[in-house]
Amino acid sequence: MKREDVLTWDEYFMGLAHLSAKRSKDPSTQVGAVIVSSEHRVVSIGYNGFPNGCSDDEFPWDREGDFGNTKYPYVVHAELNAILNSKHDLKGCSIYVSLFPCNECAKAIIQSGISRIVYESDKYAHTEGTIASKRMLRSAGVELVQLPYAIDLQVSRKINPTIR
Ligand SMILES: [Zn+2]
Repeated sequence: MKREDVLTWDEYFMGLAHLSAKRSKDPSTQVGAVIVSSEHRVVSIGYNGFPNGCSDDEFPWDREGDFGNTKYPYVVHAELNAILNSKHDLKGCSIYVSLFPCNECAKAIIQSGISRIVYESDKYAHTEGTIASKRMLRSAGVELVQLPYAIDLQVSRKINPTIR
């Protein structure tokens, strides 16, 4: 008898996006993104963070104050990191994201050739950025799919009984 209650592809890839998000040092928003080929292969993965060489100890995570002292000019979003991390052609791929992509990431998604976005939260749906994002993505023919559920992923350490 084989196991029947395995994760679906959507649960698996969105779960991976949540796992990746757990690497983010952003105290307010942790986002993960996973790019997947049409053969269900993981092509790339990312989370929101500062560019290489820009230390989390030097750059601010603040959301308020002078622009230069907030995170906004510095942070690389999960989707853009996943696109930039990829060594493969992304044409026809899907991107799984825990939060609907902003307008800047939407441009990168379109230009990369990704043709489908599977997302979970749409908590900024009312904002001008997300409205502009959806306008571009729809014009470009990118398929937008919101999962009808949210993933709850918990990672914890336990005692390893094989360590003597
Ligand atoms: Zn973005």
